[in-house]
Amino acid sequence: MRVGRVALVGAGPGDPGLLTVRGLELIRAADVIVYDRLVNPELLDEARPDALRISAAKRPGAHRLSQPQINELLVIHARQGREVVRLKGGDPFVFGRGGEEAEALVAAGVPFEVVPGVSSAIAAPAYAGIPVTDRRYASSFAVVTATEEPERSDARVRWERLATSVDTLVVLMGVARLSSIVATLERAGRPAATPVAIVVRATTAAQRTVVGTLGTIVEAAEAAAVESPAVIVVGEVVRLSEKLSWFAGDGLADFADADLEARST
Ligand code: SAH
Repeated sequence: MRVGRVALVGAGPGDPGLLTVRGLELIRAADVIVYDRLVNPELLDEARPDALRISAAKRPGAHRLSQPQINELLVIHARQGREVVRLKGGDPFVFGRGGEEAEALVAAGVPFEVVPGVSSAIAAPAYAGIPVTDRRYASSFAVVTATEEPERSDARVRWERLATSVDTLVVLMGVARLSSIVATLERAGRPAATPVAIVVRATTAAQRTVVGTLGTIVEAAEAAAVESPAVIVVGEVVRLSEKLSWFAGDGLADFADADLEARST
């Protein structure tokens, strides 16, 4: 039997309009779609009615597929000759374990393609009116994850070095460790007056932005009951958000996990 193909497709950060043209084309043609929790369910409605929709939901505490199970699922369906879309939030190669999935496909001899997506790392600041670079305020930016405790001396992200060597820091998966991130950056020499923004559920109707400084953001985030998913932006560019904030969420539906589960077949 002919082996099918797998496309690792970036779904963008939430707003369905941020899916790429190539991504949409592949979703419409797919026999099987394996999707993540942060994918906008409206995109699944673009698939053929008979397409198999499989949730790989990585919801804390709930039933979820392990990474090896997801890899195996992709390989099994492709070997049955199917066109498989692996739909991942944002960009598949930005903190999405897309590299591991691609490796599993190579190992199994399954042909694949990668369709980059609009990462929340860029889109969340943009939808909050924050350019990650600006000639006046920032000539560099770094995107880091806070899945590990920043205060650990053996952390893979070298916070101490990043603190003062990069103008704009964009932190993903950082809400739960906000106070530790702030403390580490301040200890490493980033001034307490450095502006910070937290953009929650960016590019959806539920988008909210909380703005403060390294000195005030922990309290502000608590007061606003900030929750994941959120992107933390640290740096002078955050000052622009007041002037450039443009997004009102008009015409966008909010979406919740329940919605996504309901769409799996
Ligand atoms: N591959 C994804 C990132 C996956 S890691 C991408 O390129 O965007 C998951 C983290 O991404 C979340 O914890 C959060 O920090 C961020 N994130 C994803 N979607 C988001 C959204 N709509 N609003 C805010 N943060 C988001």
